[in-house]
Amino acid sequence: MSQQVRVRFAPSPTGPLHIGGVRTALFNYLFAKKHKGTFVLRIEDTDQNRYVPGAEDYIKESLDWCGIPYDEGPGREGDFGPYRQSERKEMYSAFAKALLDSGNAYYAFDTAEALDAHRKDHEAKGKTFIYNWHNRLKLDNSLVHSEEEVQQRIDAGDAYVIRFKAPQDEILHLQDEIRGDIQIDTNILDDKVLYKSDGMPTYHLANIVDDHLMEITHVIRGEEWLPSLALHVLLYRAFGWDAPKFAHLPLILKPVGKGKLSKRDGDKLGFPVFPLQWEDPKKNEVSSGYREDGYFPEAVVNMLAFLGWNPGTEQEIFSLEELVAAFDLTRVNKAGAKFDPEKTKWFQQHY
Ligand code: GLU
Repeated sequence: MSQQVRVRFAPSPTGPLHIGGVRTALFNYLFAKKHKGTFVLRIEDTDQNRYVPGAEDYIKESLDWCGIPYDEGPGREGDFGPYRQSERKEMYSAFAKALLDSGNAYYAFDTAEALDAHRKDHEAKGKTFIYNWHNRLKLDNSLVHSEEEVQQRIDAGDAYVIRFKAPQDEILHLQDEIRGDIQIDTNILDDKVLYKSDGMPTYHLANIVDDHLMEITHVIRGEEWLPSLALHVLLYRAFGWDAPKFAHLPLILKPVGKGKLSKRDGDKLGFPVFPLQWEDPKKNEVSSGYREDGYFPEAVVNMLAFLGWNPGTEQEIFSLEELVAAFDLTRVNKAGAKFDPEKTKWFQQHY
């Protein structure tokens, strides 16, 4: 790789770090170290409504316990620090403005009630409401505001958001390091909100701006973000920036039944889904963690490494250094990885 590798783990502090999140951090760390690159921790806390006190400390302590240190991030020196988006919030408005100026974004003054009515109306006809510029114009003319009118409405205190203007009638060819070529018809995309009237950017805007400014070369994240890939690639294009490479990791599935592994599965079947014990400040509940249940961090890391990746050899027990040496994105599977709580016990006994 000619360019210096820079990857990031970008959790939102909305609760405890689930083992799915630790797996994402681990794969980023392994990839960075394998390529002698940098592993950044960035706290994405722009959604103040979902902010959970203590979650950031929990994330850092979990990574620490697992032995996954970050090179740059909160508490570390760095050009872009402190890597908490809430502390960088003023900066994002200039980027939203640049998209408005280039015609890639627009102000929208719809009320939540009006949007809800459109949604219900579509549902009643068996259709999905796609909020894009084109469809919106067909509904009514309220989007066509002159600059003057926009200013008047903002001055009058009308609530607004800034939305991305997705292109129409285009087939995008997106590249994912794990999934290969993905084609998306831009007509199915919603014009996502980039900036809210409370002066906060949404995840999409802050995430893209930060990945660009922090010179991230590879975005390695969970499959649940795959539906955002088209928008993200379009945002890079609208800004005129080179996009990083993307790799979406397979979902971690329940040990029994179908679907994503959740905290409920752990509670029901009696195994931890968190690295450390978590005391929920809202619910007054304590969930068990691998650390408190007496597991070795090495056993947990070994178990996580095998969730969606395999070394292509018979070797099953790996130290962190051995994982760094063996790790390769081309050996990450597309298919969901079934979580097996017995596996951690097995690693624990064989360590
Ligand atoms: N803040 C997002 C999360 O909570 C980050 C997703 C991404 O890596 O782009 O997972």
